[in-house]
Amino acid sequence: MKLIKSAAIILLCNFCLSYTSSAQTPPTKPIYTKADTLRGTLTKERTWWDVQRYELSFKPDYINKTIAGDNVISYKVVKGNTGNIKMQIDLQEPLIIDSVIYNGKAPLQFSKSTSVWYVTVPAQKLTETNSVRIFYHGKVHQAIRAPWDGGFIFEQDSLKRPYMTVACQGLGASIWYPNKDHQSDEPDKGASLTMTVPDTLTAIANGRLVFKRQNNDKTTTYKYNVVNPISNYCIIPYIGKYVNFKEVYKGEKGPLDVNYWVLDYNFKKAKTYMPDQVHKMFQALEHWFGPYPFYEDGYQLIDASHTGMEHQSAVSYGNGYKFGYRGRDASGYGWGMKWDFIIIHESGHEWFGNNITTKDLADMWVHESFTNYSETLFTEYHFGKQAGNEYNYGIRKGIRNDKPIIPDYNVNAQGSGDMYPKGGNMLHSIRHSMDNDQLFRSILRGLNKTFYHQTVTTAQIESFINKQAGYNYSKVFDQYLRTIQTPVLNYYIKDGQVYYKWSDCVKGFNLPIVMSNAKTKVKFIPSESWQHIKVSQEQAKLLDKVEIEKMYDVKILVTPANNDI
Ligand SMILES: [Zn+2]
Repeated sequence: MKLIKSAAIILLCNFCLSYTSSAQTPPTKPIYTKADTLRGTLTKERTWWDVQRYELSFKPDYINKTIAGDNVISYKVVKGNTGNIKMQIDLQEPLIIDSVIYNGKAPLQFSKSTSVWYVTVPAQKLTETNSVRIFYHGKVHQAIRAPWDGGFIFEQDSLKRPYMTVACQGLGASIWYPNKDHQSDEPDKGASLTMTVPDTLTAIANGRLVFKRQNNDKTTTYKYNVVNPISNYCIIPYIGKYVNFKEVYKGEKGPLDVNYWVLDYNFKKAKTYMPDQVHKMFQALEHWFGPYPFYEDGYQLIDASHTGMEHQSAVSYGNGYKFGYRGRDASGYGWGMKWDFIIIHESGHEWFGNNITTKDLADMWVHESFTNYSETLFTEYHFGKQAGNEYNYGIRKGIRNDKPIIPDYNVNAQGSGDMYPKGGNMLHSIRHSMDNDQLFRSILRGLNKTFYHQTVTTAQIESFINKQAGYNYSKVFDQYLRTIQTPVLNYYIKDGQVYYKWSDCVKGFNLPIVMSNAKTKVKFIPSESWQHIKVSQEQAKLLDKVEIEKMYDVKILVTPANNDI
């Protein structure tokens, strides 16, 4: 298939980054506000308590663009104290906390500093579980370009009927409900979302329906529940003229309840379109990553007014029932037009993002790089190895190298959009350097098993991969995650020998190069000094510049220089 040389457009789940490979800007030093620091730091008002459960209830006012509700936060005391202590609750302006009730009885005092609220709670005994119920209301920040800017979304469907949801990754769930808005602390025992909406509309949320109750005032209340830990930004309401169809998918771990919620006028096309893509997604991703991580909560795919988001067990869908990303292919090879980008990518996050969640936003590459690579793995599973390689190579033109993928820690900072195509290409390079797909697959499945329902750091992921691979890839991670350089592989073949070395790389960069076919294989580990090994004619043929580039995210210089040796 011919590579289309158009500007690469990599369009993403939460951050719309449209760019060309030539659009490089020098990195600038970011400025962090007090609010960034309070959001991104594990302050002392946050670390003494561990969230166990959120029980959120709310009612949206579609006309006035307001919401009112309460969140019961159950928490375990992980650092006891004898006197009054402050608890940091995040709720962003212009929403207002009205009152806070302690353990279902006593009102508590609280004060406010920007979008942070300090609630004064009495002495806390180590390991005991308490709760605060926080009542709040007000105008809610509305998203302008959801899902990329985030906020509450008061939309209309195409028949001009109310259509509401929320997208808040990056911006934080405190944009619409009070919580501990830090990625490291997920409610260990899950969360419930209770929504009261006009009885002409249907409300859906993550997990399973607990009850639906008709009220006397032409409203209906719906309660949904997840039993597994969940990121705050993934707890999402969907309210509109929804209809439902469902099935039981026979997955790796047994029967999985799959629910499709679509606007009434999408029912007919959804019924054939969605299950086909969802089945293919589960086939490929359970193969590579292991069982879907949330069988207990089921899997739902839900129509949304924005393009899509990875909301745990309730994936948002807004890709127009068209293959590609809004009908386009990021790879330029055509492979991206063989499947629905949003269904595959956002569902890929169930493993990397929702099952394995990073503690700090700075480590978001763990979510996006592996999920980006799930697109290649999906393509390979259904269309063959060459298709996967071409897809991965094709999206490489979206790499900008504008700034490192890992930014500053503890300030709610987010790294370069390169965490998608460059991160995916890094994983592809590591995979080929292992030259053992069985091992690579066992590492992906092992990550999901070892860090099942956990929050992690980059260091944990790196060391797990190094240990399982039996090779130290630390310098490879440094190169791709922490610098903006593309390493250069210098090599040439002379008198039956291949001469090779790395340049433009971090000190000690040691990515092995392996090229193989059914008959033979050649492997070498370049350093920054010239080395050489003997190669047969057959092996020499494998060292084709273009073929190496497809497997490894490197620049290549075929250097016939002698004086450099
Ligand atoms: Zn994503």
